[in-house]
Amino acid sequence: MPSSSVSEKILSFEEARHLIEKHASRVHPCGKELIELVDGVGLILAEPILADRNLPPFPRATRDGYAIHAADLEHVPAVLHIVGEVKAGAEDAVNVRSGEAAAIMTGAPVPSGADAVVMLEHTSRNAERVEINKAAAAGDNIVPAGAEAKRGERLLSPGARLDHATIAVAASVGKSSLLVYSKPRVAVLATGDELVDIDVPPPPNRIRNSNSYSLAAQIQAAGGEPVLLPIAPDDPERLRELIADGLEADLLLLAGGVSMGKYDLVEQVLAELQAEFIFTGTKIQPGKPIVFGRVAFGAGTLARDDYKYFFGLPGNPVSTMVTFELFVRPLLEALAGMSPRKLVFLRARLKSEIRTKLGLKRFLPAVLSGEFEQAEVELIRWQGSGDIAAMARANCYIVIPPDREQIEAGEWMPILMR
Ligand code: AMP
Ligand code: MG
Repeated sequence: MPSSSVSEKILSFEEARHLIEKHASRVHPCGKELIELVDGVGLILAEPILADRNLPPFPRATRDGYAIHAADLEHVPAVLHIVGEVKAGAEDAVNVRSGEAAAIMTGAPVPSGADAVVMLEHTSRNAERVEINKAAAAGDNIVPAGAEAKRGERLLSPGARLDHATIAVAASVGKSSLLVYSKPRVAVLATGDELVDIDVPPPPNRIRNSNSYSLAAQIQAAGGEPVLLPIAPDDPERLRELIADGLEADLLLLAGGVSMGKYDLVEQVLAELQAEFIFTGTKIQPGKPIVFGRVAFGAGTLARDDYKYFFGLPGNPVSTMVTFELFVRPLLEALAGMSPRKLVFLRARLKSEIRTKLGLKRFLPAVLSGEFEQAEVELIRWQGSGDIAAMARANCYIVIPPDREQIEAGEWMPILMR
């Protein structure tokens, strides 16, 4: 019965990831809106940001010291006559001629005439004279006007994620409001007769639905807007109704009901809805039964795509979390308007040996401690992929390739930060 109508497509991790990236490269973001810059963090830019003037707008001193003529310092020490002081924000009232110096502060416009700044540390002042003890080359400690960007130059492109650095760029060119892509709405449907809502006291034989909440958190962190649907029981009728509701969103995530059990009904119900299954499992642990697919809509019935994508994530809480990061995130990032980020693997030295079985690429919760060449990593003790409490103590995953079954302590292992 369950999933018998769906032919199995079990891929390697790399094949599955590649397919997701291929589909992600073809989806379109879900509309645009104008927001205040201060509300922008985490959103994706939908307009280019241009330099509204040269950056810096004037030749900028990068040190506190003296603006001078480099040619005057051919022989040091040299004594120069101080003709003024230029602080940050000053108008260019001073003109520095040969034999002269102007005291200058970091961020101040270098006065006309001067071609270098010597650091205060290499000078000693005596009333209106300054002795300079170090030679300088023209351009020292000055960023020329327009060196960072020319007026009209593109500083950020649509698809850039707004974080502290990109927000600084927008602020520096006076963009107090910005056009961003609308967040994709991501429906979350937890399935299983054993689940109860978190505000209901669970009877002894049932458990609280945590997946909807972990997924909501991951969706938000990846730039989406979670829409939590009611819990779906293991009943095809009700599941079908809730899946239909979920397909109204921009992306549908199901959690649970994709394994081989008699009541794992998700694939069966999706198959009845004429879903196309892009894959029905990957050779990873945790998360092997993950399903990725799409449902076609009649041509022209939707303004944007003709497909709605869905993921059937395994219900074991750690599997749900891992498969989101590995597979859902790139598609969600694409729907949010950015080009999906690559996975970044760090390396750390294994603290104690690992024995495992061949055949699956494993992403096992672990604790990373120490920094740089002292970075050490160790698997957490856990009761398997249902162990939420252990997962919360982990801060990364050790990545074990499918062809390794014994790894000695001391080996440098790839890790993926959580
Ligand atoms: P399933 O994928 O439906 O076979 O579920 C695998 C395991 O995950 C079972 O132990 C379920 O009780 C558990 N589980 C499924 N869905 C959730 C959920 N939403 N919250 C917490 N645990 C869940
Ligand atoms: Mg279930």
